[in-house]
Amino acid sequence: MSTLPALVADLVTANRILADQGVVDAFGHVSVRHPEHQDRYLLSRALSPDLVEASDIEEYALDGAPLSAAPRKPYLERFIHGAIYEARPEVQAVVHSHARSVVPFSVTRRPLRPVMHSCATIGAEVPVWDARRRFGDTSLLVCDMPMGRDLAAGLGEGTVVLMRGHGATVAGRSLKEAVYTAVYLEVNARLQMEAAALGDIEFLSPGEIARIRERLGAGAAAEGYSRAWEYWARLAARRHGGAAGAPEARAGAPG
Ligand code: MN
Repeated sequence: MSTLPALVADLVTANRILADQGVVDAFGHVSVRHPEHQDRYLLSRALSPDLVEASDIEEYALDGAPLSAAPRKPYLERFIHGAIYEARPEVQAVVHSHARSVVPFSVTRRPLRPVMHSCATIGAEVPVWDARRRFGDTSLLVCDMPMGRDLAAGLGEGTVVLMRGHGATVAGRSLKEAVYTAVYLEVNARLQMEAAALGDIEFLSPGEIARIRERLGAGAAAEGYSRAWEYWARLAARRHGGAAGAPEARAGAPG
């Protein structure tokens, strides 16, 4: 298990990777469950992910209440994170984004499904959550726990839920897994759109998805989630002048 300072450093790296890979822009956020308190999570104060530093990380209770002595302005949509940690004890990290390539799949009846082996962790068919079904006309933003819990129910036991006319939320058993799935979710959405223009698509089968996930989950330090993380961390660090990512990327636990 990671120590708190190491996990905070990884969370900063996750923010930089997601920005560098175009998953998040000025909006979107990534959290990780507290390593010692299962009923808390770590998340930046309200800030564009690319700007996040270790000193911006705050602790929240699962209901979204800030736990630091002098809390700074939180993300409005932090309830997404706590509601998923509450519903899914095995989930250790959550990414919420307005990734543009997935939005077409959230507003049509064409399901997002994995077309490439690297994208298997998105699951066999990605569900779409629509705030309007239960809450009527809203801003579409997940601004309280009832909305967060409804979204968590939409996620079910999966790794990804699309949000109609809004974006996507990804859950992972580790920060590296959640970041991996969030990046490849965007890749899959683009590839599926291109493939659909050519003709009928042969998607990955549930059996193929299970085998790929098993292999990724069992990955050693230079394989799977860790290998992708180290690569993306290096790219993001280069753009940041080497400020983040490299040291902890090599020391990290598998998966
Ligand atoms: Mn949002």
